[in-house]
Amino acid sequence: MALMITDECINCDVCEPECPNQAIYLGPEIYEIDPARCTECVGHFDQPQCVQVCPVACIPVNPQHVESRETLWQKYQRLTTDAPVPAAGSKPPAA
Ligand code: SF4
Ligand code: SF4
Repeated sequence: MALMITDECINCDVCEPECPNQAIYLGPEIYEIDPARCTECVGHFDQPQCVQVCPVACIPVNPQHVESRETLWQKYQRLTTDAPVPAAGSKPPAA
């Protein structure tokens, strides 16, 4: 499953640099997780790094994105072997 950040987020900025998939970005109000990039840290770490560091425990699994470990592994493979996917929240280069 991809994870999600709830509105209990205090925008402490701690989780964003810990994500190995650049899935976390600052949204309009709070930090958000791009489900297309979150592998629950599968392929990188045993535990979700954002959950480990969040001081207010506001990062549950996203019920909209239920995925098996196998699916998460395949997502990890895609993210690391395919053409680079733009980081979450990034803008396309100027023409
Ligand atoms: S679980 Fe891992 S991959 Fe997903 S957002 Fe958190 S740090 Fe990033
Ligand atoms: S670590 Fe938790 S409180 Fe801090 S920005 Fe990330 S989700 Fe929000």
